[in-house]
Amino acid sequence: MRKLKCLCAPVSVLSVLSIFLSFSAAAQTSSYMPDWCKALPRPEYKTLQRVLPNETWFEVYKVAPATYAIYEPHQSEETISYLIVGTKQALLFDTGMGIGDLQKIVRQLTSRPVVVLNSHTHDDHVGDNWEFTYVFGMDTAFTRANAKGSVEDAQAEVAPGEICGELPAKFDAKTYRTKPWHISLLVKDGFKVNLGGRTVEIIATPGHTPDAISLIDRENGLLFTGDTYYPAPIWLYRPETDLDAYVASVKKLAALAPSVKIILGAHNVPVASPDVLPELVTAIESVRAGKVAAGEPHDGKVIYKAGKISFLMKAAK
Ligand SMILES: [Zn+2]
Repeated sequence: MRKLKCLCAPVSVLSVLSIFLSFSAAAQTSSYMPDWCKALPRPEYKTLQRVLPNETWFEVYKVAPATYAIYEPHQSEETISYLIVGTKQALLFDTGMGIGDLQKIVRQLTSRPVVVLNSHTHDDHVGDNWEFTYVFGMDTAFTRANAKGSVEDAQAEVAPGEICGELPAKFDAKTYRTKPWHISLLVKDGFKVNLGGRTVEIIATPGHTPDAISLIDRENGLLFTGDTYYPAPIWLYRPETDLDAYVASVKKLAALAPSVKIILGAHNVPVASPDVLPELVTAIESVRAGKVAAGEPHDGKVIYKAGKISFLMKAAK
């Protein structure tokens, strides 16, 4: 989750009012553009191969053979789900916001059966789980609680300033919620899914959440990191975050860096070099050792920037 607009300088009541008024107007004219939206499109996408170019809510990119990044640039999380296609079945790694018609996208990319696995169960990664028959889940209390669905987190995703451009015509923001889903199979660290001609394996990487996982396709050198790594401030401040576990997890991933070619994170930009993994270890250890200055606190949170990596963490009391 990457929204930084809430971290800008404190705003006056007047400007809050003007934002509200301009959003209200936007509801009718669609002309309101939040600040985060002005940075789009991100330049990194120019070098990627776009497919299904007529889709409007999702942008789909072929990031490796039979591997697709399904990006949602019109909502501030800029979530990226991945479809990994084998000769027998496909695995959908996350189901995004549940705002657009993800089934339609998936069906245009593959006719094979699809299993869903989530990088973790924050609302912005599980929005369309309910639409799929086969959803694997990590065996954690956090996962089971989130599978019941929620209203509050989902509603916050469509609050004023969270949407850039047009919502899909069929979408109703007023009734938007994360719908409950059924976990068809409990899985754990080391679990492998044979997709036919390629196999993906779960690497448990708890920290961001208790159920956070990465997914590795060893034959093709692909490592999908979910919210354990993405190229924006990594959220490590929520109550379900465990920093000790996070450090252990990023060390586990860094050990894999020599054997992978592409790192695929779950927000903003889908492709990174494996070099980021050792950098991630250095960055989080430097922050925890007190060697990195905190940014300005806002709303109880601060950003620590260590080289190219940054973290959004609780402000020290
Ligand atoms: Zn998350």
